[in-house]
Amino acid sequence: AVLEQIKKAEPVINSYVTVDEEGALAQAEEVQKKIDAGELTGPLAGVPVAVKDNMCVEGQLTTCSSKILYNFKPTFSSEAVLNLKKAGMVIVGKTNMDEFAMGSTTETSYYGPTKNPHNTEHVPGGSSGGSCAAVAAQECFMALGSDTGGSIRQPSSFCGVVGLKPTYGTVSRYGLIAYGSSLDQIGPVAKDVTDCATLLEAIASHDTKDSTSVEREDYDFTSALVEDVKGLKIGIPKDYFGDGLDPEVKEAILKAADVLKEKGAIVEEFDLSLVQYAIPAYYVIASAEASSNLERFDGVKYGYRTEEYEGLHNMYKKTRSEGFGAEVKRRIMLGSFVLSSGYYDAYYLKALRTKALIKKAFDEAFEKYDMILAPAAPTTAPELGKSLSDPIKMYLGDIYTISVNLAGLPGISLPVGKDKKGLPIGMQLIGDGFQEKKLIRAAYTYE
Ligand code: GLN
Repeated sequence: AVLEQIKKAEPVINSYVTVDEEGALAQAEEVQKKIDAGELTGPLAGVPVAVKDNMCVEGQLTTCSSKILYNFKPTFSSEAVLNLKKAGMVIVGKTNMDEFAMGSTTETSYYGPTKNPHNTEHVPGGSSGGSCAAVAAQECFMALGSDTGGSIRQPSSFCGVVGLKPTYGTVSRYGLIAYGSSLDQIGPVAKDVTDCATLLEAIASHDTKDSTSVEREDYDFTSALVEDVKGLKIGIPKDYFGDGLDPEVKEAILKAADVLKEKGAIVEEFDLSLVQYAIPAYYVIASAEASSNLERFDGVKYGYRTEEYEGLHNMYKKTRSEGFGAEVKRRIMLGSFVLSSGYYDAYYLKALRTKALIKKAFDEAFEKYDMILAPAAPTTAPELGKSLSDPIKMYLGDIYTISVNLAGLPGISLPVGKDKKGLPIGMQLIGDGFQEKKLIRAAYTYE
């Protein structure tokens, strides 16, 4: 049924870079045998899932939606994907994204933009736009996304699905093609909170192949699927609801806060003004890490190589000039600049200090509150073709999500309504480190 739906939806939506029809059917058959033999009994056995195209799947084209990874088929699978297989899930394909996860609209993909299933004149958000659109258009039941600075939560909000960015270290980054390694986290995208928690439970694991992987005490996220927010203290940052927030988005989110209040939560406003520095700090840190991480794409070992060149240096130069898109080049240049001697202290080090202060501001907030309630994005999904010409404006749209990555915290985005045009509005709940269960409980109660 999912493959049929993909055939219907894909010509317009373009959620996938690769659909593995044959492979999916073969996996399904194998899983069915194991289910029949009683070897697979979990809730996800046989469920079709899509994987963002920056996660390695053995033998499957993995492109990061970039020309530079032309024809790259990894010889191994990422740990998160192995965990999907362990649960018996069927991987139907790889989803479209902003090139190397840099962007907020899925328009920087070499494979063309993905459209928002709610209104195809609009973007699905990004960078995990393909995963979120695929779930929204019923082209899979669940999907994996990655979130370096909102890339699960923002497109989930734009597509009316539920997406969760786990605490840094919860899901292994092994086999996730790195963007900003200190910020990247893989997380679930699903139709509702129950599916989202179930998928998180499947992919979260301690992995010695990722040195930042954390051994958590508790991986039982689905036990938090209970309807109860009595006495839960929820903080609303005043600063998040001022200028720049679309009035329709504001209204829908404050209404959702009232629903939680009616169900017994204690909702209060508080000050989190330091977060205004998150955007410059994030773009300095993420670009610095990206400039280093993307050094490996040189045309020598795998992926795209320019056709004509004179000598090694010319080959590197031409390959990278032709292989990377404009936004990726901008980040590499910015990142190399802030890491270069003479500028390192002024920009990179300052950004790291800002990151530490933001973490401290969140620590203080979580002394008083169980969670923070905020928008996921300042507007609903913009129209296609309107965002890329003004990158700074696009970066400013990340205001509500990126501080969460800088502080390594978990955040969930869930639908709370639609605007006049019928485009979904998402609410974000942010928790202290390792407090995903509180977020799941509150989201489930709201839903
Ligand atoms: N808009 C953010 C960026 O372009 C999103 C990054 C992400 O989470 N992958 O950096």
